[in-house]
Amino acid sequence: MLKPNANYAKLNESYLFFNIARKVKAYQQKNPNKKLLHLGIGDVSLPLCEAVINELHNAVNEQSDEKTFHGYMPECGAPFLRERISDYYKSKGIEIEPDEVFVSSGASDELGDIQDLFDKSSNALIIEPAYPAYVDANTMAGREIIHFPSGEKDRFAPYPDKNVKADIIYICSPNNPTGAVFTREKLASWVEYANKNGSVILFDAAYEAFIEDEEIPHSIFEIDGARSCAIEICSLSKTAGFTGTRLGYTIIPKDLEKQGMNLNAMWVRNRTTKTNGVSYIIQKGAAAVFTPEGQKQIKENINVYKHNAKILADAFDSIGLWYCGGKNAPYLWVKCPDGMKSWEFFDYLLNELQIIGTPGVGFGKNADGYFRFTSFGSKEETLLAAERIKTFLKNA
Ligand code: PLP
Repeated sequence: MLKPNANYAKLNESYLFFNIARKVKAYQQKNPNKKLLHLGIGDVSLPLCEAVINELHNAVNEQSDEKTFHGYMPECGAPFLRERISDYYKSKGIEIEPDEVFVSSGASDELGDIQDLFDKSSNALIIEPAYPAYVDANTMAGREIIHFPSGEKDRFAPYPDKNVKADIIYICSPNNPTGAVFTREKLASWVEYANKNGSVILFDAAYEAFIEDEEIPHSIFEIDGARSCAIEICSLSKTAGFTGTRLGYTIIPKDLEKQGMNLNAMWVRNRTTKTNGVSYIIQKGAAAVFTPEGQKQIKENINVYKHNAKILADAFDSIGLWYCGGKNAPYLWVKCPDGMKSWEFFDYLLNELQIIGTPGVGFGKNADGYFRFTSFGSKEETLLAAERIKTFLKNA
């Protein structure tokens, strides 16, 4: 008899965004004339840049002509895009060959799918607070999860604990939700740990383009020894506004071997079985991101978000609110004032200041009492929100 995957029954209900929407709707029904300021948005608000749009149009036109039409794409990615991504890494001094780059439809897809490389008995260490998909994907797979806490002491970027035996290790830097970044030294300690233990680090670099401090690594492969213990998962979603267009890439070094099995070769086998690749049109648009013009244009958009982050950071600094992130990341992780819990602070901000953010408690361990603000909203709303925060929270 067919048995459904019982692990789905172990998933925590995702109340977070449902509850936010419910509370906001109720508030607006009661107060139809109040303008709400949105600082909880996890999606980008600026459109694709011109270089990408032009290339998407060109690719659509190619598909209309028999002579330039493209059918199936290579499963692991079009060579022109794999080469551009490899060159992007080389421009940062990191040697990644085109056949170590796997083009995907986005980081979320890969973060779940990549588990196919590991036996069910391998556990997963997740540094929390964390992007909720890590816990959910591993729960669906029936994997044992080590909920590894981070906190204010380590600025939400902890060192490994040699007494904990982890097989798969999720590290996200710059981090969603905390905006924290891992220094070179911290990443080196995780790489050393992983190589000693035979673990694999899944490095989520979805926000690497927001890094501005030179000493913060953009890639795990800037760290010596990472090629024998790490996979990097990246996305153009936040880098270039591809949240609805969909494109990501995964780097698996050819020398990444565990117990005699080569993970790059295994992933080639996986992709050639489980996908027929990403659309030609989208890959052409993505390739434009890696041209000098594309890089210049996406940076202009990222700078708009970074400016919003700075407006919020300055407001928090001026009233002495504890936070991390905001400099190398689009997220600011605030300690709720007055010992408030996350939902209490949410209600206060909504009802008193008409600001919507995200209660930290939805992101796992050590997250209650914290709150996530994002910089993806409009500059006007961010400025208004910062003014209200400075005026009303000063004495909170
Ligand atoms: N990883 C992190 C940390 C994210 O915050 C997100 C999206 O918000 C993703 C991955 C998913 O990216 P994608 O849109 O490429 O699926």
